[in-house]
Amino acid sequence: MDGILTGLNTAQRTAVTSEASVLQVLAPPGSGKTKTLTARVAYFIAHRQLKPWNIIVCTFTVKAAREMQERIRGFVGDEVAKKLKIGTFHGIALRYLRQYGKHVGLGDNFGVADTTDSKDIVKRIIVQTQSELDPAAARNRISAQKSKGVSAEQFASIVSKNVEQRDFSQVFSLYQAQLKACNLLDYDDLLLVCVELLRSHPECVANVEALLVDEFQDTNGVQYELMNLLAQRRNVITIVGDPDQSIYGWRSAEIKNLGRMKEQWSDTLTVNLEENYRSSGAILHAAQKIIEQDESRPPKKLQATHGIGQRPVLRKLPQARHEADWLTSEVKRMRALTGNMLELSDFAVLLRSAALSRPIETSLGAAGMPYRMIGGMKFYDRVEVKMLLDYLRVIDQPSHNEALARVINVPSRKVGDKTVEGLQREASNKGLSLWTLILGFAQGRTKVTTNLNAPAQRGIEQFVNVVLTLQKKLAAEPSGLYELFAQLQKMIGLQDYLKTKYPDDHETRWSNVEELMALAIDAQVQASTELDREQEAHAPAYGEEAVEESALTAFLANAALAASIDEKAVADGEKVHQVTISTIHAAKGLEWPVVFIPACYEGSIPHSRAEDNDEERRLLYVGMTRAQAMLYLSCPGKSTRQEDTTMSSFLEQPGVSSFFEEHGPSISHAEVQSLAVTLRRKCPDVAATATTTAALDLQEDNYWPLTGEMPFTEAPWQEGAHQNPAVPVFGNARSASWAN
Ligand code: ATP
Ligand code: MG
Repeated sequence: MDGILTGLNTAQRTAVTSEASVLQVLAPPGSGKTKTLTARVAYFIAHRQLKPWNIIVCTFTVKAAREMQERIRGFVGDEVAKKLKIGTFHGIALRYLRQYGKHVGLGDNFGVADTTDSKDIVKRIIVQTQSELDPAAARNRISAQKSKGVSAEQFASIVSKNVEQRDFSQVFSLYQAQLKACNLLDYDDLLLVCVELLRSHPECVANVEALLVDEFQDTNGVQYELMNLLAQRRNVITIVGDPDQSIYGWRSAEIKNLGRMKEQWSDTLTVNLEENYRSSGAILHAAQKIIEQDESRPPKKLQATHGIGQRPVLRKLPQARHEADWLTSEVKRMRALTGNMLELSDFAVLLRSAALSRPIETSLGAAGMPYRMIGGMKFYDRVEVKMLLDYLRVIDQPSHNEALARVINVPSRKVGDKTVEGLQREASNKGLSLWTLILGFAQGRTKVTTNLNAPAQRGIEQFVNVVLTLQKKLAAEPSGLYELFAQLQKMIGLQDYLKTKYPDDHETRWSNVEELMALAIDAQVQASTELDREQEAHAPAYGEEAVEESALTAFLANAALAASIDEKAVADGEKVHQVTISTIHAAKGLEWPVVFIPACYEGSIPHSRAEDNDEERRLLYVGMTRAQAMLYLSCPGKSTRQEDTTMSSFLEQPGVSSFFEEHGPSISHAEVQSLAVTLRRKCPDVAATATTTAALDLQEDNYWPLTGEMPFTEAPWQEGAHQNPAVPVFGNARSASWAN
């Protein structure tokens, strides 16, 4: 127990041990909210005798969930930590739906439609109905409605006579019908259907003893509802969050959920934490100076517990490549100056959008510095990875029309786009899935009206043969994911296909395939060892046995959920000797000794397509407050598209520049020391005893008057950031690190 409370400050201890059933911890970045939350989980187990499998912990990303589990493991040991129900809202919903989904009419083997699937479905409906809507916008709009809890029927019932709205309503309804026909749930459905389940069958959560939610400021309406329902039996709820870090408004996150909670439970206890344990005073000052530009924000107190440290750097450079080279040389210089005490993993480059990474990748790559990417350039988004997953989806669930249409002609089987479209239309007119139609055709049972020439006919037969063969193999050996992969890539001649299609970087692409096969092995091992036997033993008496899902179904569901984070990179171990490149969104909750935020220009941050300027400012604030000892902001004179830029308006406000160095530190003895302090801080034992220098009350200086997870951490305009197939996206990072 004492381990649990050791090193916590008074307010943190209060929060950890509080008897209040509903507890809010609201506090600025780096004040130990996540630390407090994990300690409270451990405290519940050790002192209140709560069963770990009855505790639900929600975080925003898969990576955050892992880190949290890691921290809790430190208190209660591996065995106990493993039994917690810990994950993203989507992951937790998926888990309940797999187990109890049949109560709300879900088929056993439902699949998860990822963002690309949803987009493809919407696109097809728009073509079929000759709608004028923009597919991407329509899809985002559907998602926004669903995040607010508005169903297609509800929308249809309130829709006005406005033609555009009626058009959208029709697309929305057809989209839902299509998902249903394919036995698919999209990300929004995972939450919505789980809400429906828990509302109608509260028995499913009868033994939940406590619910804890990190990054609460970013929950949306449906997640809030889900949270209530998960905790409905005992209402023991702990949430931690920071309104200043609310950066998911574009995904319908609702900051007013904080107030809602207080209204709902008048006895909610709120604990504020006011000391920052992460950043140097100078970094905090600069971050405050940015966030306080939002005048609607209430004043807050925040004290730095570390020394003032080095002033952050704000640097202008001619072009993006100069910026990248400068950044790379700073990494080198800082390492040299600290006698390589700083490792590459102590540096992070945080980007407003994934598309900005290319010059940085090039520069780090040229300097031979390994790097890894999280958020944005997703492993699961790479063309070859997507294609293999699509094949697996078809094998797992042949009614998955979208996946089937994407791969039927990859590698080419002479079945052109027009033919595929024709077949899709025909199948849909006949009320069949595309698979049923072509299977019947290949087996000579069904005639098709779509015009098929001889090569196309043969192509379809070949494709059907691949799928049938692999389905048989899977049936014979349900856990043999790796073997399934191996046979699949052989049957479709994947290696040759990649060589011909991508002569310049087929090796990189092949290494992605190997990576995916490695993940399949991992999944296989996990499936066989981790069946949560203990939890099942303590599962509610209610309900039938948990549905046994096949290794492949589980693998695909996880792949869909992992969309925002490069799981493998994270799973590779605690000490990854690589510079991190991440979007700011995906860096939420994390920290590094040295942080770079390049491309701070108008149009990038604030983003030209962002609707909420305050949210953009908070995003910059989140980025800046990831830094412990050194923070570098920079702005190139030209964008990567060679357009002239101006410095971000957030950094051009009066008085801001005095918080920054212009030319970068001519590194001083003090700086080296502050870095050393940071490094020591990384070791918790030392941290607990480290003398805090010159605690700094920001209030005094008038700094404060003011403001605010499936895995899915990107703004819509970041999607498709790496569509240019000629540019290896992730490959550099991997080959570089392997070379090392
Ligand atoms: P964010 O808002 O960015 O998610 P947070 O409030 O969750 O931040 P944590 O990540 O929990 O903050 O903590 C920030 C850092 O401060 C961590 O390195 C943590 O170990 C350290 N820390 C927190 N509380 C204390 C404490 N009482 N003593 C020493 N270090 C602490
Ligand atoms: Mg946190």
